[in-house]
Amino acid sequence: MIKKLLNKIFKPNAQNKLSANMGFIQKRSAVEIHVKQHGINVKLISNAALKTTEGLQKAGFEAYIVGGAVRDLLLNRIPKDFDIATNATPEEVNRIFRRSRIIGRRFRLVHVMFGDETIEVSTFRGSHLAQTHSAQNEDAKTADSGRIIRDNVFGSMEDDATRRDFTANALYYDPANQIVLDFHQGFADIQAGVLRMIGKPETRYAEDPVRMLRAVRLSAKLGLKMDAATQAPIANMADLLQDVPPSRLFDEMLKLFLSGHAIESVNALREQHLHHGLLPMLDVVLEQPMGERFVMLALKNTDERILSGKSANPSFLFATLLWHEVLTSWETYKNDGHHFIPALHMAMSEVIATQAEKLAIHNRYTATMKEIWAMQPRFEQRAGKRPFALLTHPRFRAGYDFLLLRCESGELATEVADWWTNFMNAEGEARAAMLMADTAPKKRRRKPRKKPTPPI
Ligand code: ATP
Ligand code: MG
Repeated sequence: MIKKLLNKIFKPNAQNKLSANMGFIQKRSAVEIHVKQHGINVKLISNAALKTTEGLQKAGFEAYIVGGAVRDLLLNRIPKDFDIATNATPEEVNRIFRRSRIIGRRFRLVHVMFGDETIEVSTFRGSHLAQTHSAQNEDAKTADSGRIIRDNVFGSMEDDATRRDFTANALYYDPANQIVLDFHQGFADIQAGVLRMIGKPETRYAEDPVRMLRAVRLSAKLGLKMDAATQAPIANMADLLQDVPPSRLFDEMLKLFLSGHAIESVNALREQHLHHGLLPMLDVVLEQPMGERFVMLALKNTDERILSGKSANPSFLFATLLWHEVLTSWETYKNDGHHFIPALHMAMSEVIATQAEKLAIHNRYTATMKEIWAMQPRFEQRAGKRPFALLTHPRFRAGYDFLLLRCESGELATEVADWWTNFMNAEGEARAAMLMADTAPKKRRRKPRKKPTPPI
C-alpha cells in the first residue's frame, strides 16, 4: 500500500533508466505543451535530427530535440543546428548508429552523421548540485571560485534541464508526439520576450563565467530582454572571465561575431563592461577613433553578409580586428629605420605572436590573416605589371574587401579603392590605360667590379 502511494507520488519513469539506476527520485515537473499551443512545424526539423530521435526511441530510449533549436523554432527562426538529449549513454548511442563517434573530454558527446549533417547527441546530465551529492562526484570537479571544470555526471531529464543556462534553452521537443516539455517556464518566457537564467544567476555565473557572454550574445541575437536578476550581477562579476581558458572564449567570440548581430552584441558587451574580458585588444582598438570606425565597419559588413545568407570568413574578421595593432607596430618599425615592407612583416609577426596567442586564434586563421595584411601595400602600387600580378593572388578578393574597409574608415583615400574597383571591371586596353606611369626606381645593375690589377 505504502509502496503504491510512494509510487504514485514519485512515479519513476519507466523509460528513464539512468536516473532509476542511479537512485535519483524522478519527479517530473515538466509542463507538457501541445502542438496547438507551441505551433512548431515538424517539417522545419532536419531529416537527420528526425532519424536520430527515431533511432534512439526505437531502441527503447528517450530522445528529444533540445536547446537552441527548440528555442529558435518557437521564435520562428530556422535553427542552424539540432542537438539531441537522451537517456542513452554515449556508448549506447554509438552502438545504435553506424556512422557515429564519441567526442569531447569536458562533455562526452556523440556525433551522429547522416549525409553531410552532424547531429550532436548528449546524455542527460546531472545538475551541478546533484553531482556534488552524487556518488560519482569524481567526475564533477569545481574550482575554488565555484567554477565547474568538469561535469560528466549523468542524471535525469529534469537534472539536465536544470543545468542548462536559460529557461528558453531548457525546452525538450519530441517530434514523434510533437510535445514540448518545459521544466522552467521557458515557453512563457519566450512568449514574453525574456531571457532568464535558471537558478540563482550569481551562482550560475560563478560556475561558468561564459554564461555572462552568452546572456549578452543571445539577448542581442534573439531580441530577448534580459530579466533584471539575470542582468544585475554581470557588471560586478565580469572579472571572472579572466580565468576562462582562451580557447573557450575564442569559441564564444566566434559565435558572437558570426551571429549576424555582432554590432548589437559588441554594443551590449560595452554597456555591460564585458568587452574587456572578451577581447583584450578590442578594448584598445575601440578606444582609438580610427580603430573603432574600422572595426565597427567590419562588423557591420559581416552582419550584412550573414543576414543575406552569405558566408563570412573568420580570418578576414580577425585580420580587421587586429589591423590597427599592426598599423601601430608597423609605424614603430619604420621609425626605427626599417624599410617599408620588412617593417610590415615584423609588425605582423609581432601582433600574431602577442595577440593571436592570447586570443587562441588558431594557426589555420593566422596564415590567411597575414596574407590579407601583406597584400595591402601592393594596392598602392598601380604602375607597370604589378596590379596584374595582384589580381591573380588567390586571396585577392579578401585583400580588396579589406582595402574597401580601410578607405571607408578614412584610413586611406577613397580614390585608391575606386581605382581598383574600376581596374577590376575594366577590360583589355581600357585596363592597361589605367596604369600609372611606372615611377618606381629601376633596379640598378651593378657595374662589374674592376679586377684588381695584379701586382707586377
Ligand atoms: P546558438 O543558437 O548560438 O548555437 P545555443 O543556445 O544553441 O545557441 P549552444 O552552444 O549550441 O548554444 O548550446 C546548446 C545548449 O546547451 C544551449 O541551448 C543550452 O541549453 C546548453 N548550454 C550551452 N552552453 C551552456 C553553458 N555555458 N551553461 C549551461 N548550459 C549551456
Ligand atoms: Mg546551438
